[in-house]
Amino acid sequence: MSKRYTITAALPYTNGPIHIGHLAGVYVPADIYSRYLRLTGNDVAFICGSDEHGVPITIKAKKEGVTPQDIVDKYHAIIKTSFEDFGISFDNYSRTSAKIHHDTASEFFKTLYDKNEFVEEVSEQLYDAEANQFLADRFVIGTCPKCGFEEAYGDQCENCGTSHNATDLINPKSAITGNTPTLKETKHWFLPLNKHEEFLREWILKGHKKDWKPNVYGQVKSWVDDGLRPRAVTRDLDWGIPVPVEGGEGKVLYVWFDAPIGYISATKEWAARVGKNWEDYWKDENTKLVHFIGKDNIVFHCIIFPSMLKAEGSYILPENVPANEFLNLEGNKLSTSKNWAVWLPEYLEDFPNQQDVLRYALTANAPETKDNDFTWKDFQARNNNELVAIFGNFINRVAVLTNKYYNGEIPQPAEFKAIDEETLAAVKAYPAVIASSIERYRFREGSQELMNLARLGNKYLADEEPWKTIKTDEERTKTVMFVALQIASALAVLSEPFLPFTSDKLKSILNHAELDSELTWEDISTKDVLLPAGHSIQSGKPELLFSKIEDDTIQKQLDKLEASKKANEAANKKVEPQKEEITFDDFTKLDLRVGTILEAEKMPKTKKLLVLKVDTGIDTRTIVSGIAESFSPEDVIGKRVTVLVNLAPRKLRGVESQGMILMTEDESGNLVFVNPNIDGVPNGLKIS
Ligand SMILES: [Zn+2]
Repeated sequence: MSKRYTITAALPYTNGPIHIGHLAGVYVPADIYSRYLRLTGNDVAFICGSDEHGVPITIKAKKEGVTPQDIVDKYHAIIKTSFEDFGISFDNYSRTSAKIHHDTASEFFKTLYDKNEFVEEVSEQLYDAEANQFLADRFVIGTCPKCGFEEAYGDQCENCGTSHNATDLINPKSAITGNTPTLKETKHWFLPLNKHEEFLREWILKGHKKDWKPNVYGQVKSWVDDGLRPRAVTRDLDWGIPVPVEGGEGKVLYVWFDAPIGYISATKEWAARVGKNWEDYWKDENTKLVHFIGKDNIVFHCIIFPSMLKAEGSYILPENVPANEFLNLEGNKLSTSKNWAVWLPEYLEDFPNQQDVLRYALTANAPETKDNDFTWKDFQARNNNELVAIFGNFINRVAVLTNKYYNGEIPQPAEFKAIDEETLAAVKAYPAVIASSIERYRFREGSQELMNLARLGNKYLADEEPWKTIKTDEERTKTVMFVALQIASALAVLSEPFLPFTSDKLKSILNHAELDSELTWEDISTKDVLLPAGHSIQSGKPELLFSKIEDDTIQKQLDKLEASKKANEAANKKVEPQKEEITFDDFTKLDLRVGTILEAEKMPKTKKLLVLKVDTGIDTRTIVSGIAESFSPEDVIGKRVTVLVNLAPRKLRGVESQGMILMTEDESGNLVFVNPNIDGVPNGLKIS
């Protein structure tokens, strides 16, 4: 039964490229769902766009000395290209800086304003006097009132996911100056979420108890049970959509008010382009609206946006919000600021034309019910043990043997044996099995069922051994190859939602374009013959669908992450504050000389101490140095060093130490000598 669907994927925030966490959590599942619905004959609008307003963009622009528009132009282009590269099949990818969006969001606000759906309130908001600015959202950092996380933002805690007002933060600090903000009066418009509490209870807590994912339902229930409060939907900022009513000068719409309206404006833009009526996709009760998001966006898509739509009055509400949990990377939380991520443009450079491998690995391990970990070892195993060894191997055998035995022409089968009948019947069951997984948003399960179909083909060939029967029983071989080709054809169609690039390649290997009509999802279960006898597949050596990924390729990725970790640790290492000021006379009291270590031995019964004989140019003296954990005696003999020679002698373990050798530490905490950086500097030379 054909239906109309509006499918939205969270608008990516335009202050950086996107990484595997975004792909796994939102875009790949949304794409699988959309492709499947199109293949099964539904009317689909798959909608997304760049979210280009909000505070982080203005902070980044300030840091880089450019305009916010420069930032969003740059990342909009990068993000859009990544989506195209990975086959995310949006019907429209728009942006919230587009005029159509400004108009749509403005009008939406006006409608609610005219209907008296806002509460207008002069309240005290956090203000940074030095920066001469109100501190909304990410301009302020403080302790989360709910979980105690110390770096929560003004609008949301990234640790526990709670959404709050900036004034709720404990111990707030300005992100611009670091100052403790003061309170200053300003007027804002609030959406009274408390007014919509009953509706939310009725609609979600009663109406969607069974069909929404437990993680989404549970979060919504906890918020509603905690009691909802009015949320400000305007901000004192100069980047965003101007508040279109009297008294709104110098203020813009809160980014989370305008962003979800972006789904509507992107639909409008698309409908105008393709000659459709956008209202069919947003205002017709028969249209099914589904939001794909990550778990950090649940409150906005399940509480705030539906309350806005309800208040407006003419829109449909989402039928489901299948939010995913988070994907971690090699055991750590993905982080843009710490560069702990696999960025899509970089992945494509390192693994050209292997988009489907990443799509598959991310889907097979998707964080659908709990946070999951992406590891490069798992990625390699998914590729080598499943895509190459099962799917790719089966297709390659079928194509090679068909060309070798029959010149590429599908043979006329002889009589089917029970195993052939059973195999063909099993193939016919797959469309319904995979569809059921997809329709219940269980994409990882669906991807495994697809792999099971390839397994079925692989096993059938291994059991029937056409490469043996070709010598003894030509008729039997024809039948086996005919059956195997039907399985290959089913794989070409059913893999499309999950592996779109592979599906295209496989369709061209099998010459699907030469068939009387394009095979649909339904055909796989209803037609007895997918590839008829006499149909020709592509001649010559078939293109390999997948290739093995070697250990050293994986090691390179692990090394890259290790380097990020090191760089990040170095950047985060606390630099000690400068000591109290001294005079030049104080400095000249230090007598620093260039010297050479002549002898070295371990101080008995100690771990840290080496006893050194050092040529200072003045004399050869004994210095006891605490460097034995970083250097063995052999390491340091002959080393050029800097010596503080006029330090009062002191006894260490009975040995008098006459001076000190200057040392520092590298980023891993290993000791490093401070010494002249060229040879030929004589001992005894003064350092000043
Ligand atoms: Zn928190």
